[in-house]
Amino acid sequence: MASLHFKYAAMNSGKSTQLIQAHFNYLERGLEPYALASELHDRDGEGIISARVGLSLKADIFGLDCDLFEKVDQRNQSGKLNVVIIDEGQFLTKDQCYQLAKVVDDLNIPVIVYGLKTDFRGELFDGSYHLFCLADKIEELKTICWCGNKAHMNARITENGIVVRSGEQVEVGGNDRYVALCRKHYLQGQVQA
Ligand SMILES: [Zn+2]
Repeated sequence: MASLHFKYAAMNSGKSTQLIQAHFNYLERGLEPYALASELHDRDGEGIISARVGLSLKADIFGLDCDLFEKVDQRNQSGKLNVVIIDEGQFLTKDQCYQLAKVVDDLNIPVIVYGLKTDFRGELFDGSYHLFCLADKIEELKTICWCGNKAHMNARITENGIVVRSGEQVEVGGNDRYVALCRKHYLQGQVQA
């Protein structure tokens, strides 16, 4: 029985490193993973999932109006496919979350989605909301604030280190404009000691 997994985290938690490691583990066991990434994610050019530790992985890119069930079903019919691995799950639409659930239920293929829980305003991403609703297994990938406490808030910071709490949810750009903080320091706007 396959499952829909949602592994969520704050920024800079090593989520892409874990995704790439999981992908490698499947390959090493002779299994065929299928990596997918949203076109909204463009950190290193089209279709490359990269991690800060220097690893990278070629993924298939999908748009907001892509039917992920159709996409996975086609891929499944053209060759071996054992698991679907998705990066930046927060950018999935509601429909795409349901399409992934259908991949699990109808094709019996496990789906592992990695993503951020909340945006810099401290509010759930739409994709994450529906993944929380639908996933069979939910796991938090932990990271820490500069103070040593668990960091689960994502602060957007200006060049001068000021925490911003309003604006567009998605601003594609460098990772360095975000920092993971504990709730206390997120609310206080204190990004370092
Ligand atoms: Zn803190």
